[in-house]
Order: sequence, then structure tokens, then C-alpha cells
Amino acid sequence: MSKIIDGKKISGEIKEELREKVSKMDKKPSLVVISVGDNPASSVYVKQKEKCANYIGINYQHLHFDSISDDELVKKIDKLNKDNDINGIIVQLPLPNGMNETRIVNTIIPSKDVDGLTYLNAGLLLNNKTSLVSCTPKGIMELLRRENVNLEGANAVVIGRSILVGKPMMNLLINANATVTLCHSKTKDLEKITRKADILIVAIGKKEFIKKDMVKRGSVIIDVGINRVDGKLYGDVDYNDVYSKVKKITPVPGGVGPMTVVMLMKNVIDACENI
Ligand code: NAP
Repeated sequence: MSKIIDGKKISGEIKEELREKVSKMDKKPSLVVISVGDNPASSVYVKQKEKCANYIGINYQHLHFDSISDDELVKKIDKLNKDNDINGIIVQLPLPNGMNETRIVNTIIPSKDVDGLTYLNAGLLLNNKTSLVSCTPKGIMELLRRENVNLEGANAVVIGRSILVGKPMMNLLINANATVTLCHSKTKDLEKITRKADILIVAIGKKEFIKKDMVKRGSVIIDVGINRVDGKLYGDVDYNDVYSKVKKITPVPGGVGPMTVVMLMKNVIDACENI
């Protein structure tokens, strides 16, 4: 088995499975992506979502506003919440400065919250109940499952405590019976902790931060980071440095990234089926 966890290939396989599934559904699932303002990175992600949705057969709608007030946006979301033809709603983050992201995201009815960011869905995950789960950590769990990485009793270390990645990742791993340590910028002696990790998941947004002397020999490394420098993408892990020491590793690009958008589509299908 290859050392490289090929997220591109695995996400491609899942895309085919989802396309096949949707082709047999009486009602096509539908997704609405809302974006506000002008964020070049967001535009790229929105296009990726559209392409993937179209391929799988999910009805896709993009609502873009150059600018909109919080109250107006809440009204628009309320309308979508009540529309039975819409299964999934996401608000592309970050919103422009000054907008209340928490309020706006939590306006989405939890059953259509396909980014898994509402308080209710986060709480359900915390309680190990079925819910719509944030797409990046969900995709990482799928990578680990398909690569037969044993989680039960494993020492898993997550670096980064965002609502989007680190915290849901921690909960998913706990629910899968791993022993989890969550680290962040105030963590002391980080290397001491990471060197004990059977599974190390890094989501901090710092180019090639994790070096060989910080990882355990034979460990599994999941690199969530996307750091664009001079037009090139780098992970949070120094891939070439750690490669010889680890058992498995996700590359950047081509590791976690391609899984995220496919997991979003899986959530839309699940929302349509009322799972
Ligand atoms: P975020 O909200 O900026 O959070 C970063 C986290 O990293 C924070 O918890 C921060 O700690 C911690 N941190 C920063 N520097 C650290 C250090 N030196 N040591 C230990 N912890 C440190 O980031 P995010 O949204 O989770 O994203 C993280 C990275 O993943 C970014 O590069 C992002 O682009 C990427 N990403 C990729 C995907 C994908 O699909 N591949 C999806 C989402 C995000 P504090 O809480 O103490 O500040």
C-alpha cells in the first residue's frame, strides 16, 4: 500500500459513488451557496462546488451579493429555510468585515446546514448523535477509514481549534474511540505532544511548520493547511522533511482539499434524504 494518502483519487471514487446514487433518486438534491463581497479565494471555492455539484447531479444555485446588511441576509436565508425545494444552504466564509457570521450561520435551519456549523449540529456531534458534520473533518475521517487506519485507542493529536476544522475533528476522533489531544497557539511544549501522536492532524495555516523532529516514527500525518506563497501551495507539514519517517501522509495539494468539496455534496444528499 502506498505511503501517500491520495485524496484526489479517493475523492474521485466517492464522487462516482454519489453520482450513481443521485442518478437513482426520484428527487434531485439541491444546494444554495451564498456569497457576499469580493474574496478571490472564496470565488475559487464557489466554482469548485458548482463544478462538483453539476457533475454529481445536484441542483446548484449561487446567490451572490456585492454587499448586503445582516438583517437582509437573515431574511433571504429564512426564505430558503422555508423552501421545500432546497435541501442544503451554505454561507461562504469569511463574510466581509463587520458582518455577524455567527448570527448569519445560525439562521440556517440545522437540517439544511450542510457545512455543519450551526450550534445544534455542533452540539449533536459533541453528543455523538447523527448530524450534518463540517466537511473537512468529515473528509479526513473518510480518508482514514478508506486507508484502514485504526483509530480505536490510537493517540491522536489535532493542532488547531477552529469551529470549522479542529473542534469537530476532535469530536469525530473521540467518537471513534481515539485518545485525543487538542493543541493550539498557547500549547506548551508542542513537540513533546506531537512526538507521541500515532495520528497527527495539523490545521493551523503555517507553511511547513511541522518538521521531522516533531513527528513519531510510523505515524499517520494529515495535513489540512493551505498556504499560498508566490502562487504555490504548501501544507502545514514539511512533507519532504517528514516523509521518510512516517507511515502515511496526505500531500498538499491533493490530500485533504479534494475531500472537502465532495463531503459537502454527501451532506447535501444526506440532507435531502433527511438523515
Ligand atoms: P484558523 O481558524 O485560522 O485556526 C488556526 C488554529 O491554529 C487556531 O486554533 C490557532 O490557535 C492554531 N495555531 C496557529 N498557530 C499555531 C502554532 N504556531 N502552534 C499551534 N497552534 C497554532 O484556521 P482553520 O480555518 O482551521 O484552517 C487552518 C488551515 O487549514 C488553513 O491553512 C486553512 O486554509 C486550511 N483549511 C483547509 C481546508 C481544506 O479543505 N483542505 C479546509 C479548511 C481549512 P489559537 O486558537 O490559539 O489562535
